[in-house]
Amino acid sequence: MTTTTLEATIAANLAAVRARIERAARAVGRDPARIRLVAVSKTFGPEFIRAAYAAGQRDFGENRVQEALQKMAQTADLSIVWHLVGHLQSNKARKAAKAFPWIHSVDSQRLLAKLDEEALAHGTRPTVLVQVDLAGEPTKFGVPRDQVRALFDVAAACRAVEVRGLMVLPPYTPDPEDARPYFRALRELAADLVAEGVDPRLLEELSMGMSHDLEVAVQEGATVVRVGTAIFGPRASASAEG
Ligand SMILES: *Cc1c(COP(=O)(O)O)cnc(C)c1O
Repeated sequence: MTTTTLEATIAANLAAVRARIERAARAVGRDPARIRLVAVSKTFGPEFIRAAYAAGQRDFGENRVQEALQKMAQTADLSIVWHLVGHLQSNKARKAAKAFPWIHSVDSQRLLAKLDEEALAHGTRPTVLVQVDLAGEPTKFGVPRDQVRALFDVAAACRAVEVRGLMVLPPYTPDPEDARPYFRALRELAADLVAEGVDPRLLEELSMGMSHDLEVAVQEGATVVRVGTAIFGPRASASAEG
């Protein structure tokens, strides 16, 4: 694809995604401007990121630290807000705390404490979300539902990291309605935590919804949607998931 064709394709895809978000938000009386679109660029090269950037996109998501650092270097001339949406191993916490303004995938007290320590050392203040495992699948990442409350005690004590909400990645099924119970459960969990005394500022964001189910997520209260395929096209390999 030539650069102009790529730019036109991605601009059209982005416009379509933004229109979907707007329609879904308006249908439930929400302000679409309150919903942040993260363009998940994993597996795609910098020319795709530049094309989306030219169409006005500023938030980009990656699921691997190493791949992201490379793209950050390749697009250092752009004002991108980078989001880490994939699983974070604690041996990469230092790099992540330094490089990502948003980390969606904190799933243990230990990782949160480590990120806070590294962010403090580097003088960064990453926005962090807690990934919750609502499916109870042993292969999925995320904090089990019954351990989330304790993690928010650690969150309240963080000095550099700013915990701002919850993230969920439901098991994939083609029917977007199948994701609704997970999205609803995430919203209810946030409300329950506030009712239990957690500072509401720590629970302002709900990161949920992807290419095929973003409408359902927006209807259920998503403040951040993470969209890859609908913007950049199909990925070559499924091994990049999670
Ligand atoms: C890849 C990925 C996405 C985007 O998925 P699409 O179906 O391509 O929109 C969202 N969230 C996470 C955590 C991902 O790894």
